[in-house]
Amino acid sequence: MQTSYILISACLLGEKVRYDGGDLLIEHPILKNWMKQDLLISICPEVSGGLPIPRSPAEIQQSNNNLIKIVDIKNADVTTQFCLGAKNSLRICQSKNIKMAILTENSPSCGSSIIYDGSFQGKKISGEGITTKLLRKNGIKVFNQNQLEEAYNFHRNLHSTKDENDQ
Ligand code: SF4
Repeated sequence: MQTSYILISACLLGEKVRYDGGDLLIEHPILKNWMKQDLLISICPEVSGGLPIPRSPAEIQQSNNNLIKIVDIKNADVTTQFCLGAKNSLRICQSKNIKMAILTENSPSCGSSIIYDGSFQGKKISGEGITTKLLRKNGIKVFNQNQLEEAYNFHRNLHSTKDENDQ
């Protein structure tokens, strides 16, 4: 039986990697169960891309086709670091044959359906973070922390498909 690892935003596991030096720990039985089975592989794409903790908050200002621009609140261009973090996340998924991820909603890296609109006014819009976009482009299913039941079912199906293929 092959193991189906799951990529997860490091801040959801309590790692203090957020821009403000905090975390977004989720205490949920599904996550605890996966942790117990050693299935979770954590990454903070922004830190992996070279940004410090703490760091200035950043928002996506443009993300159409291949044109991406992310700036922080001081107007420094952090696109390179965000893109590197996304590539590092994808590399981990590919090296471990990871098919799904649980990523933090609202983040310019990890958001999966909602992000901030780029104005630094606290306004949210429909959209996805840079890491989510790259993972999805490469066939990896991305859930957010509010979709753990769905994610659990997806993972269970993934596992049973793999088991059938292994027979
Ligand atoms: Fe969490 Fe993702 Fe932001 Fe890192 S980049 S702090 S993992 S939401």
